[in-house]
Amino acid sequence: MKKIPFSPPDITEEEIAEVVDTLRSGWITTGPKTKRFEAMISEYCGVEKTICLNSATAGLELVLRLFDIGPGDEVITTPYTFAATANVIIHTGATPVFVDVKPDQFNIDPDAIARAITHKTKAVIPVDFAGFPCDYKEIYTILNDKKHVYHPTTGTLQESIDRPLVLIDAAHSFGSSYNGKKSGNLGDFSVFSFHAVKNLTTSEGGAITFNAIGDTTSDELYKKLQLLSLHGQSKDAFTKMKAGGWFYDIAIAGYKYNMTDIAASLGIVQLKRFNDMQIIRKSIYEKYISLLSNDSRIILPDFNAEDKVYSYHLMPIRIKNADEKMRSSIIEFAAKKDIALNVHFIPVTMHPAYTNLGYSINSTPNAYNSYHNEITLPLYSTMTLDDVDCVVSVLHDALESILN
Ligand SMILES: *Cc1c(COP(=O)(O)O)cnc(C)c1O
Repeated sequence: MKKIPFSPPDITEEEIAEVVDTLRSGWITTGPKTKRFEAMISEYCGVEKTICLNSATAGLELVLRLFDIGPGDEVITTPYTFAATANVIIHTGATPVFVDVKPDQFNIDPDAIARAITHKTKAVIPVDFAGFPCDYKEIYTILNDKKHVYHPTTGTLQESIDRPLVLIDAAHSFGSSYNGKKSGNLGDFSVFSFHAVKNLTTSEGGAITFNAIGDTTSDELYKKLQLLSLHGQSKDAFTKMKAGGWFYDIAIAGYKYNMTDIAASLGIVQLKRFNDMQIIRKSIYEKYISLLSNDSRIILPDFNAEDKVYSYHLMPIRIKNADEKMRSSIIEFAAKKDIALNVHFIPVTMHPAYTNLGYSINSTPNAYNSYHNEITLPLYSTMTLDDVDCVVSVLHDALESILN
């Protein structure tokens, strides 16, 4: 049978030509193509501003830095995510506070956020798992109800809001929407990932999208983020390289997180092709649902809600009555037939880096429950409907041989 990888990139001659065009242009780092890609993202998401960076990890960290979040502060997030979401909180010196997901779901439980808010809470990082938006209406209601607890640190951007910051890890949710608003326009800041396995890729890359915050315009926020992302240089490399433009100040000891024009070239074409790629992802997802919905051994993801549109980034299913060992056997069975299955995610609080800090999965039983029998099936835009048949038939064989 045909080999079915987990999530190969969908790169056409058009992406290749755009990258070659950049290579021949004489300008390969941050420059005109990055600016064009930023404008395209802002337009697609319906936000005022976008800044492109070398990863989503960089974007999440920069927003925390922009708001001077650090030692003594708490940031509420979910353990049901990739480590990046939590690692950046650790990097700033703040304390991650992990709250549970909703029972039998993958996204953060707004009521659990409510219980975790203290006077130290400076931000909440919800994660749109698989590209299914979180319950933002409930999350904002809770943050507004508890705004009397919020204590911004004097002299920081924290004072420009009257509740903890909503920083969305939208690594999976490019193309999603909630109540008619596109992902990217749902938080104070949203962060996309364009890593090779994501539904829009620049090989490595990420972006922060945002509007004005309080009295601070989105242009001012963009300038601050740009400073933070490029060593605090008062001029970007493109401006600096113009003849005579040698002088610059280092305004702050910033970071080095900018996107290259080579990466942006990929993004420009991927975004042009995005709707077509999404149509394929949707058809793959729908075929899985139709083939699996009558199988009582399988729990399908509950990605149906009137107010939410899913981005079809992942196909996470759960196997009823399977334990972690049986799940491993199913994945091994499929691997022997050249079908790559995966698991999303090992909760952050199960990793040694976090258990060593005293965190435990026991405090978030729903997250463990969603994880312990979860398997992610291949879903990508170069996959065919016949491939879906192959995956499902091998999955059925695996279940027959392992569950019985
Ligand atoms: C991929 C991913 C990230 C990290 O993205 P990078 O661009 O690799 O930094 C963060 N959060 C989630 C949920 C992810 O899946």
